[in-house]
Amino acid sequence: MTPGEHAPGVRLVFLGPPGAGKGTQAQVLAGTSGAVQIATGDILRRHRRDRTPLGLEAQSFMDAGKLVPDDLIVRMMEAEIAGHDSFILDGFPRTVPQAEALDALLARLGLPLVAVVLFETDRAELMARLTGRLTNERTGRTYHVVTDPPKVAGVDDDDGGPLVTRPDDRPETVAKRLVEYDSLTAALVPYYGAHGLLVRIDAMQAVPTVTAAIEGAVRRREAHVS
Ligand code: ADP
Ligand code: AMP
Repeated sequence: MTPGEHAPGVRLVFLGPPGAGKGTQAQVLAGTSGAVQIATGDILRRHRRDRTPLGLEAQSFMDAGKLVPDDLIVRMMEAEIAGHDSFILDGFPRTVPQAEALDALLARLGLPLVAVVLFETDRAELMARLTGRLTNERTGRTYHVVTDPPKVAGVDDDDGGPLVTRPDDRPETVAKRLVEYDSLTAALVPYYGAHGLLVRIDAMQAVPTVTAAIEGAVRRREAHVS
C-alpha cells in the first residue's frame, strides 16, 4: 500500500452505556460481515475465570461497577486487535486516554476506523434490559428474561450452556456503572464527533431494526471513505 491508502475492512467502535445493545448487535454483525467481535468485558471475564494476573487485578474494579485502569485495558486490547483488519470493538474505548491509545495503534497499523456507532437509549430502558439480562459466560451470548427468553429456562439454545445473571447486573451495581459511563465514557461522543466518525443510532428500536440501521449507516460511511 502507498501512503494515504488503507486496508479494506469493517472497523467499528460500538459506543454507548451498558445495556444499550452493543453486544447483541456486535454478535449479529460479526456473523454477517466477517468482522471479529472484540468484547472487552467478555475478555476480562475470561481472564477472571482463568485467574490470570490481569483477571485478578481487574476483578475488584468490575465487582464495584468501576472501569478497569486504562494501562491494563490498553495492553490487553493491543494484543487482541493484533492480526485483525476487520473488527467490531464492543466496550472499548471507554475513556479518552483509551481512545487516544487506539488512534495511535490504528495509525501505526494503517487501519483507520470506518465509524463509531453511538447507541442511544433512555435510562429506564437500560435498567430494564440489564436487570433482565441472562448471559452465557463462555460465548458472551445474551438473552432477556422478558423480551428474549431461552427455550428452556437457564439454558442457552445454541450450546446448552448455563445462563447466569451477571453479578454486576444487579440494580445497585448498574447504577454505579451508569455513573462511570457519564463521568468517563460520555466524553467520547464529542471526541469522535470532532473526528467525523460518529454515527448515532436509535437503540430503543427492536433488534432487527437496530441492525438494519447500523448496516445502512456503515454502508454510507464506507461509500464516504472509499
Ligand atoms: P450491552 O452489550 O450494550 O451492554 P447487550 O447487547 O448485552 O448490551 O443487551 C442488554 C440486554 O438487552 C440483553 O438482555 C439483550 O437481550 C437486550 N437487548 C439488546 N438489544 C435490545 C433491543 N433492541 N430491544 C430490547 N432488548 C434488547
Ligand atoms: P461490559 O461487559 O462491557 O459491561 O464490561 C463489564 C466491566 O468490565 C465494566 O464494568 C468494567 O469494569 C470492565 N471493562 C470493560 N471494558 C472496559 C474498558 N474499555 N475500560 C475499562 N474497564 C472496562
